[in-house]
Amino acid sequence: MNHHFAIIEPLYQELSEIAGYLWERGWAELNAGNISIRLANVSEHTFQDLAISETFSLPAPIPALANEFVLITGTGRRMRQIAKQPKEHTMIVSVHSNATTYHIYYTSFGQQIKPTSELPTHLACHGVLKTNKPNYNTILHTHPSDLISFSHHPDMNNEELINKTLWKMHPETVVFAPTGMGFIPYQIPGNTVIANATIAKLATKNTILWQKHGAFAVGTSITQAFDVIDVLNKSAAMYLQCKAAGFEPTGLTEAEMSELMEVYKDFGK
Ligand SMILES: [Zn+2]
Repeated sequence: MNHHFAIIEPLYQELSEIAGYLWERGWAELNAGNISIRLANVSEHTFQDLAISETFSLPAPIPALANEFVLITGTGRRMRQIAKQPKEHTMIVSVHSNATTYHIYYTSFGQQIKPTSELPTHLACHGVLKTNKPNYNTILHTHPSDLISFSHHPDMNNEELINKTLWKMHPETVVFAPTGMGFIPYQIPGNTVIANATIAKLATKNTILWQKHGAFAVGTSITQAFDVIDVLNKSAAMYLQCKAAGFEPTGLTEAEMSELMEVYKDFGK
């Protein structure tokens, strides 16, 4: 490996760690989930020794991503593979200055792999994030089992009720996920309806529940995106545990939640 490329080595370590957690938790069966990270402090120079692909076209121009580099997981790759060999199962997308074409840098030093089929959605989201929330450089999609089960509850079909139900299960959910989850009713995975709804939802939410499918989170790092989903998933798990035990959880009262929000209003800012 060349020394320029070594600058992003810590990122691969973090990717490996989080991909391992996704697998261990059972949130990444088969090739479920995908991750992408917009890279900082890199240039063509950084990747000069890597093999590159032909030029591909984006479905639509993304002006904000001109000259940007995005590390992204490969299509069909398992999180358990990414945990062991992050470079072998990911690649770097280099968007050209025209914002309409890109090529891939292969970090696998051999086998040439294709990016996740969600590449257009990831890039469109990164474009919106760079413009509106520049610190948010990471996108994580995964299948958190408890949140998915929770989304099958016949009453949990609106954002307000979903968030109240999750918040009231634990004080940390109020503190660490203060904006709660966006909710998008079931759509066929990978279609443009869910992609556009997700992009629209990013205006107000950083974590989104795709009903009967999974979670989509944007974060300031892979760890941060994972942590927020983890906290929300734990609340969903505890809610389902109480229901399975045959009682409706008491939950934090409105007054207790208001008090928490007041005390921790500057937390994480
Ligand atoms: Zn999925």
